[in-house]
Formats: sequence, structure tokens, C-alpha cells
Amino acid sequence: MPKCPKCNKEVYFAERKTSLGKDWHPGCLKCTKCNKTLAPGSHAEHEGQPYCNKPCYSALFGPGGYGHGGTESHTFKH
Ligand SMILES: [Zn+2]
Ligand SMILES: [Zn+2]
Repeated sequence: MPKCPKCNKEVYFAERKTSLGKDWHPGCLKCTKCNKTLAPGSHAEHEGQPYCNKPCYSALFGPGGYGHGGTESHTFKH
């Protein structure tokens, strides 16, 4: 029985969601940052943690993040 990488409990075949090469509970495959429920195969990943593509992954790790400056990621504050 595979174990869910999020909660470390066993995942039953009928309920598992396979993504990132691992088996997740449907309620455990969520964006690490914003907690949005993710669809297997259509989300981003960083160091084994699932993230939604937008806005979280592109904001955190994407090329340039917000804006078009590329290296201006430290100018986030309003
Ligand atoms: Zn789980
Ligand atoms: Zn997110």
C-alpha cells in the first residue's frame, strides 16, 4: 500500500491521486502555499512539494515572478 507523502498514511487504491510519481489522498494533493486543491498532472512541484502553477509557483520560483524585471523579486512590497 503506498503512503501519502503529505500525511504519511496509507492511500487506498480507490481514493489515490497519482502525481509527481507518488500517491496522494484527494484531500492531501493541495498547493503547499495557498492550500488550493490540485489536479494530478496539472500542477507544479518544488522539492517534492506540490504547488499550483499560478499564482504560487510562478510567483515563488518562476522566471521573473511578478512583473517583467527578471531579477526584481525583492521589490515585492507595496
Ligand atoms: Zn494524505
Ligand atoms: Zn497555490
